[in-house]
Amino acid sequence: MTQPLIDPFQRPISYLRVSVTDRCDFRCVYCMSENMTFLPKKDLLTLEELDRMCSSFVRLGVEKLRITGGEPLVRRDIMTFFRAMTRHLDAGALKELTLTTNGSQLGRFADDLYDAGVRRVNVSLDTLDEKKFADITRWGRLPQVIKGIDAAQKAGLRVKINAVALKGFNEDELFSITEWCAERDMDLTWIEVMPMGDIGNEDRLDQYWKLDDLRARLAERYTLTDLPERTGGPARYVRLEETGQKTGFITPLTHNFCESCNRVRLTCTGELFMCLGQEDNADLRVALRNFPEDDSPLEDAIRAAIALKPKGHDFDYSRQKVDGRVSRHMSHTGG
Ligand code: SAM
Ligand code: SF4
Repeated sequence: MTQPLIDPFQRPISYLRVSVTDRCDFRCVYCMSENMTFLPKKDLLTLEELDRMCSSFVRLGVEKLRITGGEPLVRRDIMTFFRAMTRHLDAGALKELTLTTNGSQLGRFADDLYDAGVRRVNVSLDTLDEKKFADITRWGRLPQVIKGIDAAQKAGLRVKINAVALKGFNEDELFSITEWCAERDMDLTWIEVMPMGDIGNEDRLDQYWKLDDLRARLAERYTLTDLPERTGGPARYVRLEETGQKTGFITPLTHNFCESCNRVRLTCTGELFMCLGQEDNADLRVALRNFPEDDSPLEDAIRAAIALKPKGHDFDYSRQKVDGRVSRHMSHTGG
């Protein structure tokens, strides 16, 4: 039997997040600068190579795949890749195939995603105000995203909303976003803004809204019950008793939950990042391309990379300056 992937801190690795493109049809101010230089298309893993990579991880015990980006649904022919992953769901090796998306293309792809076996999607949405949405995403249009969410729900996909908590930007929408999600039977997770990549003139500390504060404000209106649910990630969940809705808090800055981390991240060029908040990575593309007929060198390279997984990230704003910053953008490793 294949040995499972266990890192040096005895954490089993069962979750792979795959960034299938670094490109995006939005330019969210906390994620990208307005003028991004994207990778030449020839540097990207082909869909067949992505399939080989993911299949190797599944053979080594990965049970959950999350497809992300950039915007995963702008990658040409991406449904071919989703459909190819269905065989691992059918075989029972893969327990969940899912994606994180900005929602702009869900209107086109929701039914196909459902047919490929996707049952849950995370849609990133930071505001319900059209003007603010256009400002924060620079290029996005809110009605298109709402249509995408409608299509996803109609197709039978369970939608969770992810919102980045941004000081002075969506503080005043805490309750309206919560209620909007509750009315639509969608869970909601708030994310602290992380110091990743050069984002031009924006200042991270100006953007940072501590989730401890957000949670305290939520508790002024709702009864919050802590949920034991853990996903091996940095999220902690409560139930809002008045709406029955699940609300999550991703707090890499105020609380670090690295000790239970179960995930690694593959970029669209085949680099494996063992931690979102560190620069260490392993280039898996060499083993993939040098041995087109044999997956064992790739599996050895994956095991060698997992053996280097660091204990955790060093993000820190507590000294009123940004520490632990990493140079790549979130869109490179997919969040
Ligand atoms: N384009 C897709 C989307 O927006 O959902 C997938 C990729 S995006 C990089 C994944 C998630 O990362 C989004 O929820 C986004 O809000 C979040 N994100 C991007 N930059 C971030 C940052 N600096 N700090 C915290 N979250 C960030
Ligand atoms: Fe694109 Fe997602 Fe980054 Fe926004 S957060 S720019 S939608 S990759």
